[in-house]
Amino acid sequence: MEKRSGIRRVLSEWGARLSLERWERQILDLESRFIEKHRPRMRLSLPSSPVRQEGIIRYRDMAGWKPMRDEWREMRDIMPLYREVIRSARATFEISAKNGDLSAHSAPVSTPFWQEFEGVANAHGVDLIGYTAVPREFIFKEKGVLFENAIVLGMEMEAGPISRAPSYEAGKETLRVYQDLGDAVIELAIWLQERGVRAQPVHPYGGTTLFPLMAAKAGLGTPGLHGLLMSKQFGPRQRLTIISTDAQPIPPPRENSMADIRDFCEVCRQCIRACPAGAFHDPPIKQHGNKIVTHIDNTKCYPYFARFKSCSVCLKICARVLEESGMLAGGVNESRGSQTEDGNNHGRDDNKAV
Ligand code: SF4
Ligand code: SF4
Repeated sequence: MEKRSGIRRVLSEWGARLSLERWERQILDLESRFIEKHRPRMRLSLPSSPVRQEGIIRYRDMAGWKPMRDEWREMRDIMPLYREVIRSARATFEISAKNGDLSAHSAPVSTPFWQEFEGVANAHGVDLIGYTAVPREFIFKEKGVLFENAIVLGMEMEAGPISRAPSYEAGKETLRVYQDLGDAVIELAIWLQERGVRAQPVHPYGGTTLFPLMAAKAGLGTPGLHGLLMSKQFGPRQRLTIISTDAQPIPPPRENSMADIRDFCEVCRQCIRACPAGAFHDPPIKQHGNKIVTHIDNTKCYPYFARFKSCSVCLKICARVLEESGMLAGGVNESRGSQTEDGNNHGRDDNKAV
C-alpha cells in the first residue's frame, strides 16, 4: 500500500512538472500569435537586437537534492502561485487586444493625470515608476511592442527570503512578485484604457523588452555586473515590467541617483566571486552589434538555476553589499527631474528570475 502511494506521488509530481512546461509553451504561443497579428503596427526589434532565451525550464531535468517528501510539499505549495502567474500572463494578451483601432492616437494627457496614475500604481503595490521612449535595440529579436512609449514599473522583493538564497523561500518570493506585479500591470493597463489611453501590459515573467535597460533609461537605477537593475530604494531586490503606451506627453525620465554605481562595481566584484556556476563573463563580452555589454553566460546560469530550482546568489550578495555600504535609501521614488543620460547599456539579455 505504502509503495503504491509512493508511486502515485512520483507520477503526480512528474505530471505537475509537465504541466508547468505546457503552460509556459502556451504563453509563448500566445505571444507569437499576438506579434504576428499586430506586426504591421508594432514597434519591432532591430536586426542587432538581443535574442531572448525562451523561458521553458525543463523541469524533468531538475535534480532533486531534497527528500521526495519535501520536494512534493514544495511543488504543491508553489503550483497555485505558478498557475496564477500563467493566468495573469495570459490575461495581458487579452487586455492588449482591447486597444481598438491602432492607427488612431490617444488624447494628450496632463501632469495631474500621471500623478493620479502613480497614486493608483502605488495602491497596487508598485514601488518604482518611470517613463521612457522604447529604444528598438532594447526590444528582443523578432519581438515587438504596440506603442512607442513605456511606463516602467518595479516591485520590491522582500529582503528576508532573498537573504536566504539559494533556497525554496527565495524562489517563492520571486514568484510571488511575478504574480503581484503581473496583476498590477493588468489593473493599471485597464485603468489607462478606461480613460482613453491605449496601453499594452507586458508581464514581468518574460517580456519582449530588456527590462533592466528600460528601467535605467527611465532613470530608476543602473544595471550592476550581474545585469540586474540596482535602484536606490532596493538595490537589486525588485522585479520589473513595462506598460507600452502611446500616451503623450510622458513625464521626463527620473534623475538616476545610481548613475555612478558602476565605479563601485569595478572595485566590489563580489557577485562574480560568489556565483556558484561560474556564469560571469569576466571581462564582459559585447554582443548585438557591440551595443549590449553582457556579463552573464546564460548557458551556465540557467542550468544551475534549473537544477536547483532557484539561485539568486548574485542578487543576495549584491543586496547585502549595497545595504552595508549605506548606498541605499528607503521609500518610493522621491525625486523627479531630467535624467543624466549615462549611455549605460549593460544588461542581462533576458528577464528571467535569478
Ligand atoms: S555585487 Fe558588487 S559588483 Fe556585483 S553588481 Fe553588486 S555592487 Fe556591483
Ligand atoms: S543566478 Fe546564480 S548562477 Fe546565475 S549568475 Fe547569479 S549567482 Fe550565478
